[in-house]
Amino acid sequence: MHLSPHRSLRVLLVVLGALLAATGCSREPRQPNVLLLSIDTLRTDHLGCYGGTRVATPNVDRIARDGALFENAACPMPMTRPSLSTIHTALHPREHGVVNNGVALAPESATLAEALSAAGYQTAAFLPVRLLDAASGLAQGFATYAAPESHHLPADRVAPGALDWLAARDPQKPFFVWLHLFDPHLPYGPPPEYAPGEGPDEISWKSLLQTANAHDGDVPAATLARALELYAGEVAYVDHWVGAVTAKLEALGVLDDTIVVFTADHGECFDHGIFFEHADCLYEGAVQVPLLVRYPRKVSAGTRVAAQVEHMDVAPTILALAGVAPPAEFRGRALLPAPPAATGDLVPDAFALVEHPLYQDRSAAGRSRKQDRIRSVAGVPTREIVTDRQSNALRGTTWKLITDGASSELYDLPADRGEQHDLATRKPELTADLRRVLDEKLARHPLRLRETGDVNPRLRETLKALGYVQ
Ligand SMILES: [Zn+2]
Repeated sequence: MHLSPHRSLRVLLVVLGALLAATGCSREPRQPNVLLLSIDTLRTDHLGCYGGTRVATPNVDRIARDGALFENAACPMPMTRPSLSTIHTALHPREHGVVNNGVALAPESATLAEALSAAGYQTAAFLPVRLLDAASGLAQGFATYAAPESHHLPADRVAPGALDWLAARDPQKPFFVWLHLFDPHLPYGPPPEYAPGEGPDEISWKSLLQTANAHDGDVPAATLARALELYAGEVAYVDHWVGAVTAKLEALGVLDDTIVVFTADHGECFDHGIFFEHADCLYEGAVQVPLLVRYPRKVSAGTRVAAQVEHMDVAPTILALAGVAPPAEFRGRALLPAPPAATGDLVPDAFALVEHPLYQDRSAAGRSRKQDRIRSVAGVPTREIVTDRQSNALRGTTWKLITDGASSELYDLPADRGEQHDLATRKPELTADLRRVLDEKLARHPLRLRETGDVNPRLRETLKALGYVQ
């Protein structure tokens, strides 16, 4: 039989296609891998891609350059377990019930790892701190879950586990790896090469309390300066490991087939009378978080998104990019491939809801005792911790409201990133409008406590009186 040139070409292509399919080299894109990199206690202003100049973060900056950077992302509660539970469940802490570090995520919660596992993913998590061990409830959906028995581990004892797992995984199946690094959290003590300059090579709560004791309750300016230097060193150290992980994906030939998400569980406070701490801070240092998504197949390099977004949007975004249907329980929005537009209106969707931890009695007392011994830092008086009132923030791209019900603070973020000029008394109508938006937001996310003991009794009574809890 005689074949026309066109026809022979077609036959050749069909044969080639069959051969490629048989050898597993099909060009049909399969499900993408997912790498969730979360860093504890990382301030957004310490990353070059967010305009930070204090320390070089070339590896994080590269993720930002290759993908999407969210200029206005907020955590829901500046505390580790609550905010990570939000990332994994797409629910506000009020809804998943992890309202402080002492509560575990309920086993019946629907999680990102469960959704990906059900979609055929190999799942593995590498955690640096005992607080995140299986008792945290965050292990659900992970086939491999590595968490330490010791209090916390530096990146060089956590990240290599993820690198080894990536090398040994089944390359025929997509993977979901969650790697969390704890280094920028107190104690600040990076390896020596990341801590140049004079002074102690580690600053911890213990050393801060000793310093305060020796200075009549004040932590001197020099100690604060050294703490900032060591904190910046920890950020540089984490950036090094972020580079090691992305280099590994590149070496394995899967970087562009992987949705890389980079964020922090919360930041850290070094001002407003709150120092070396984040849980009791609703200011930007603790509330704003970095959020980067790299996936060149669906997200253009250099994408910048100004809209206000939240941690609860992270899991829906990953599932949308992976083409996996989100569980019905998820509340957040998919932010990609089509990013939401910024809205300036005073409507709930234009704001992130942030909540002060709802403390259990014991942890609240412990915190207050510790904080009481540091009466000032560099001469600035430290704040008392709120443990028996509900305190919230609404963060939008322009306006930020912080209120404990009785008093309110209002900031114009683009004009006043440092939140130094409280406009609440100058703009009473706007403040009242925002408090109404806050109430609407709280009503949309009703508080669901798992146990009566999850918050302290006085606070529970207040919440009950306000109708926030049954
Ligand atoms: Zn944390």
